[in-house]
Amino acid sequence: MKCPQCGLFNPPSAMRCDCGWDFNSKTMKESYLKNTAPAISGNYSSNGSCQNDHGQLKRQRIGFALVLFAGVWMMGGGFFLLSINAVSARLFGSLFAISGAASAVRGALGLMLLKSRTP
Ligand SMILES: [Zn+2]
Repeated sequence: MKCPQCGLFNPPSAMRCDCGWDFNSKTMKESYLKNTAPAISGNYSSNGSCQNDHGQLKRQRIGFALVLFAGVWMMGGGFFLLSINAVSARLFGSLFAISGAASAVRGALGLMLLKSRTP
């Protein structure tokens, strides 16, 4: 469901948006996130900072998903190496593992860059 206050899409189980919008009472409450609390207690209409926080949160989630995906990818390559003895299959398996490692590094780098940019 979409937050009417800041436009962020929240999971259906969410009781409250990150910006502090309460879906049950349909009113503005204090945010569960401590780092956005000062902006909300100051002025409800300062939506700019709210959306910036959401964007960074989303990018962080994508970074984590990338690392997870890379891990699964690498396990697939390892499985190939162990279970099949044919030389071509081994080559294929190691290609899988190498590309998995590459995307893991890319994902981790993305997270680190994100962290260093976050004040
Ligand atoms: Zn919101």
